[in-house]
Formats: sequence, C-alpha cells, structure tokens
Amino acid sequence: MSDCIFCKIIDKKIPARIIYEDEHVLAFEDVNPQAPVHTLVIPRKHIPTLLDIKEEDNNLIGHLVKVANKIANDKGIAKRGFRIVANCNPESGQTVYHIHLHILGGRQMHWPPG
Ligand code: AMP
Repeated sequence: MSDCIFCKIIDKKIPARIIYEDEHVLAFEDVNPQAPVHTLVIPRKHIPTLLDIKEEDNNLIGHLVKVANKIANDKGIAKRGFRIVANCNPESGQTVYHIHLHILGGRQMHWPPG
C-alpha cells in the first residue's frame, strides 16, 4: 500500500535497520525501542490488522512467529525470556496498520502491561 510506512520499508523507500528478510517476511529494529531488544517482524503482504488475517494466511502467520523465535534465539534472549506483542486497533495502541510482531526482551517484563 502506497501510504503504509512498513510497505515503504519493505520497498526500501525509507531506511530501517533490517536484520532479517526472506521471501515472505522482514525484521527490523524498532525506531523507538521499549526494551534493550525491540525488533519488529512483518509480513511482506499488507494486512492492516490481526482481524484481517484470512485462512490463506495461516502458513504466513506461522512463519512470522518462527522468524520471531529465531530472532529471539539469535539475540540471546530466548532462554532468559521475551515477549511477543501484537496490537490490534486503537485501544490496544496500534499505530501502524500493517500487522507486526514486537519482539521485546533483554530486561524483566511486568504484568499487567500498560
Ligand atoms: P504499534 O503501536 O503496535 O502499531 O507499533 C508500531 C511500532 O512501529 C512502534 O513501536 C514504532 O516505534 C515503530 N515504528 C514506526 N515507524 C517506524 C520506522 N520507520 N522504523 C522502525 N520502527 C518504526
């Protein structure tokens, strides 16, 4: 989508610190990190919210989570513990309407989240 900031990152029209990419997904560092590790994993396919995921996206979503796990492993936070967050719609705090997993780690997480 032409006005989607994450599609622009995918198309390399705006810069990002990309740490992983393959045919289906991309991972890059969050520009406003909330933890020592804060990486975003996104599908190349433009899907606005979690509610827009279709049956045909099942493999894609599984792959997205596996890539998130790989990044947690590569960054050395997997065994210590990490959090995956996916916000959906305004009250959750979603600001970018292209689905993404936040991988957060490297510090003690708290519950309930803010
Ligand atoms: P959410 O609020 O769940 O929609 O998360 C959007 C995330 O994208 C926020 O954590 C932002 O800091 C991050 N973000 C927005 N623009 C960029 C960008 N150009 N590069 C990297 N991260 C971004």
